[in-house]
Amino acid sequence: MKCAPFDYVRPAGVGEVVTTLRQAGGDGKILAGGQSLVPVMAMRMARPSVLVDVNRVPGLSSVETDGDAVRVGALARHALLQAQPDHPLLAEAASWIGHTAIRTRGTTGGSLAHADPSAELPVVAVATGATVSVAGPDGVRELDAAELFTGMMTTSLADDEMITSVRFPRPSRWGFAEFARRHGDFALVTAVVTEFGDELRVTLGGVSAAPMRAHAAEEVLAGGGSARDAARAASEEIEPTADLHGSVPFRRAMAAEMVRRALVRTGVEE
Ligand SMILES: Cc1cc2nc3c(=O)[nH]c(=O)nc-3n(C[C@H](O)[C@H](O)[C@H](O)COP(=O)(O)OP(=O)(O)OC[C@H]3O[C@@H](n4cnc5c(N)ncnc54)[C@H](O)[C@@H]3O)c2cc1C
Repeated sequence: MKCAPFDYVRPAGVGEVVTTLRQAGGDGKILAGGQSLVPVMAMRMARPSVLVDVNRVPGLSSVETDGDAVRVGALARHALLQAQPDHPLLAEAASWIGHTAIRTRGTTGGSLAHADPSAELPVVAVATGATVSVAGPDGVRELDAAELFTGMMTTSLADDEMITSVRFPRPSRWGFAEFARRHGDFALVTAVVTEFGDELRVTLGGVSAAPMRAHAAEEVLAGGGSARDAARAASEEIEPTADLHGSVPFRRAMAAEMVRRALVRTGVEE
């Protein structure tokens, strides 16, 4: 199948992107790396009348240290995240995304806007309490990553808004664990543990419509519980659904094991 016909626009700046999207009246789509949008268009599950190619917008491709965080431009490719030394958790997460070709084209802004429940970067964004900068007709607004993801592949972005950058705080300690059938496949379960101050956060991907904090597991840890205790709590608080890739008990077991591994990698007593 081929894409339905569309107009192609390649703006030179963020203001022009927003104006073009507004003029498209909800029928325009940003094209970043194209790794998610183009297949969906080819299957005609998306039929934007205007494609707004942001790849030539300057100043959105860098990864820079910003105080106790790293600011990632919306157009920073997954491969760049994987290679940068300043945020090792981001580098580890990016290394699990698809294959080399996908990491070479796919972008941070695209991954967050696409909001796949199994994608790695949204989980890291929630786990680190990242701040997302969004340009729209009224200027730039900032929102917590947790406020961005509203459900299965849905976000709180308006049709005429564009993510411009994401500020990922650096945790003092962290652990990452993922289960996928094959390396490069979308994750069945991702667990990310982050330490900020004396708080240990446990965040899961792939077990719900959007990345979720495992609050019961966090309470176990705050009370001095072990990695195994917290892993059990996490597996009991999630409500996964069965699909082709696994039953509910399988997903609970995988979630427990990924949380245990991520905690042990963080340095929590087993
Ligand atoms: C075979 C294959 C395997 C993959 N495996 C994985 C995987 O294991 N893990 C994973 O996380 N991802 C995976 N992906 C997806 C990949 O990470 C994509 O790069 C990512 O989901 C979307 O980024 P993109 O830049 O390609 O966005 P695009 O495809 O260009 O756009 C995706 C959506 O986001 C919107 N958008 C893009 N940029 C912005 C912006 N700055 N502001 C607002 N909206 C925007 C677009 O309009 C569109 O709706 C895989 C893709 C393929 C094809």
